[in-house]
Amino acid sequence: MYYNENTIVFFNGEFVKATDAKANVYDQSLHYGYAVFEGIRSYNTQNGTRIFKAKEHYDRLQFSAESIGIPYPYNNDELTEISYEVLKRNNFTDAYLRPLITCPPNMQLTKGKDAQILIAAWEWGAYLGEKLLRLSTSSYRRITPACFRVEAKVSGHYINSIMASQEAKDKGFDEALLLDVEGFVAEGPGANIFFEKDGVLHTPQLGSILPGITRATVLEICEGLGIEVVERQIKPEEVRGVDSAFMCGTAAEVIGIESLDGVAFAKPWKESLGAIIQKAYKNVVLEKEYRTVAQVA
Ligand code: PMP
Repeated sequence: MYYNENTIVFFNGEFVKATDAKANVYDQSLHYGYAVFEGIRSYNTQNGTRIFKAKEHYDRLQFSAESIGIPYPYNNDELTEISYEVLKRNNFTDAYLRPLITCPPNMQLTKGKDAQILIAAWEWGAYLGEKLLRLSTSSYRRITPACFRVEAKVSGHYINSIMASQEAKDKGFDEALLLDVEGFVAEGPGANIFFEKDGVLHTPQLGSILPGITRATVLEICEGLGIEVVERQIKPEEVRGVDSAFMCGTAAEVIGIESLDGVAFAKPWKESLGAIIQKAYKNVVLEKEYRTVAQVA
């Protein structure tokens, strides 16, 4: 459950009980999926409770809102402070924060006149663990820049994610892998993807994917550790021949992939570059210093 009768959220300028925060059934956002949101994690680090990359997430929230014409009368430093206050009032450390900006009643297909903000949080321990994903290539294609602002985190876009993820689960897999409309590998329903081949990582270039903040963190980690990464268009046929693969996202963190469409990757996860990056990511979010692969492991 994401809330109980004691949960506190920030809603339209006030800290209120989640059960007292009420949306209007005529909200434009509810009818048309016209809203933007973020998914942010906080960690119990050696320096106390820290929201990971708060600035990047709130900057993306603003970018998402402005991309689709939703007003953004907020200050991102203030929203970060409010987020810490939400955590404090709920007594959370390892948690997931969900800012959501919605638009008030308007049945017209016109841009939002006002914005409403919710910042909710729920306790969510880090996985950073052993679980590996069994992926299935989705029959749904990823939303395309010809139709949507794919680089914005818009609520309505997630219908595509829900369809793909549910389809994969119905077929007995853990998660979906979506191709873009041109047939190149795009991303998962809520995470980006990397492949390892001959000691080099490959990941889909920006264009038809959400520019993940975790993806950017992985690129920073690779740069620091001297791991080469190529951002390019990847054909699905190529994936069969890769050594290993992983997904990354705020919620999923860095998570290894065991197989795609029932075919296992050659390299055991523990020996993969992804496993090193998974450990490095843990150091980064927990604010622990490391410089080399040896220090990560
Ligand atoms: N792609 C999609 C479609 C997503 O929903 C997410 C999660 N926000 C990601 C990638 C990963 O983004 P991030 O690392 O910023 O969480």
